[in-house]
Amino acid sequence: SIITRFAPSPTGYLHIGGARTALFNWLFARHFGGTFRLRIEDTDRQRSTDDAIEKIFEGMRWLGLDWDGDVVHQFARAPLHAAQAQRLIAEDKAYYCYCTPEELTAMREDAKAKGLPPRYNGYWRDRDPAEAPAGVKPTVRLKAPREGETVIGDLVQGEVRFPNTELDDMILLRSDGTPTYMLSVVVDDHDMNITHVIRGDDHLTNTARQTQLYLALGWDVPAFAHIPLIHGPDGAKLSKRHGALGVDAYRDLGYLPEAMRNYLLRLGWSHGDDETISTEQAIEWFGLESVGRSPARFDFAKLDNLNGHYLRVADNTRLAGLVAADLAKAGIEVDATGLDRIAKAMDGLKARAKTLVQLTDSARFLVSKRPLALDARAEKILSVDGKDKLAALRAAVADLDSFSAAQIEGAARAMAEAAGAKLGDFAQPLRAALSGSNVSPPIFEVAEILGRVESLGRIDDALG
Ligand code: GLU
Repeated sequence: SIITRFAPSPTGYLHIGGARTALFNWLFARHFGGTFRLRIEDTDRQRSTDDAIEKIFEGMRWLGLDWDGDVVHQFARAPLHAAQAQRLIAEDKAYYCYCTPEELTAMREDAKAKGLPPRYNGYWRDRDPAEAPAGVKPTVRLKAPREGETVIGDLVQGEVRFPNTELDDMILLRSDGTPTYMLSVVVDDHDMNITHVIRGDDHLTNTARQTQLYLALGWDVPAFAHIPLIHGPDGAKLSKRHGALGVDAYRDLGYLPEAMRNYLLRLGWSHGDDETISTEQAIEWFGLESVGRSPARFDFAKLDNLNGHYLRVADNTRLAGLVAADLAKAGIEVDATGLDRIAKAMDGLKARAKTLVQLTDSARFLVSKRPLALDARAEKILSVDGKDKLAALRAAVADLDSFSAAQIEGAARAMAEAAGAKLGDFAQPLRAALSGSNVSPPIFEVAEILGRVESLGRIDDALG
């Protein structure tokens, strides 16, 4: 069965490219009823932090990317990695290299002078370690093949060939005995029985080296799929301004996880012209054959549109909860009455919002304490004869037998007709008084949601 993994290095936040890689691995596993593993590549002890690991967990949970089994922490497995390097030495497939840093620098300079890529020349490959200078701690290097080619049968890129002359004898163990990334990844992927490695195409050259290592270790090579990186809308490398942010930043910008998931899916994968794809559909349809070969371009406008769509179809009680949580973060505690108001007004609120941030902004007036602060536009509406109209409307609605949207609207219509005015001439002053601004969900519904006592109170505040 299929086993994939996401293997982030915990040196920062879970960035958008990593999240997409995780999503593709998750979808591929779920599509085939396989297994999706999470491995934290924490071997860089200086740069790996617990905080970054926590951010990765958080980001994946928020996106709904659940992993199977225990999280593997790569650093804890270092002795197992080193043991494989020792085995390769015993099998004469790896060797100790005693070159000093100065010698290696000289080698690189020499290659450069000849117009060749910097590389190790294999000086200790066939030398007797008895010749080793005293006091030099050796590295361990792979005896890589010197002729022929290393071929990757990539499920996205097709067949990719590397002449072996371009790949020098890579280091497996550093002189302090610690395993390199190259060795750790191969041993871990093998031990975790990974069948498919799906990752960014910046790893393509690493894959050639790792393939050499699999072959030396006598192990089956997993299938590889290298997905093109995400670029900015201008085609250049993704910058912060253009979306190179952590997943938590997208949450804070007001995107729903399902919108983010849909958007990330469409960054590099397609299903005909479909734009909105539910997670169930994605699991059903996902395959590597439909991953594009050219870099996807990040586009905030598309993300906004998708988010607007998911807001409109989202459950109102859930959205009210999210809005209340955002308001609480801004220091506005929402009680049960407030929560109920927000949920009831949600259809009207979300019709106008593209992000949760906008939704929260537009819901705030529902739970604001009296007297409301009126913005400049509301003040203007009430300044000329708005107050007179509002006062007349108040008198007409105060004693309605039912303080319902329909009855309030009916009263406003009757007044407008009698005065030879437009409905808006009465509705706008009411809006200004109830919402403190000139835009809001349908205002008669708002009045019903606020209820008679609160509505009349706000009207009285506005009438001053
Ligand atoms: N830790 C590597 C990275 O974050 C993972 C590479 C891989 O998937 O093998 O780039």
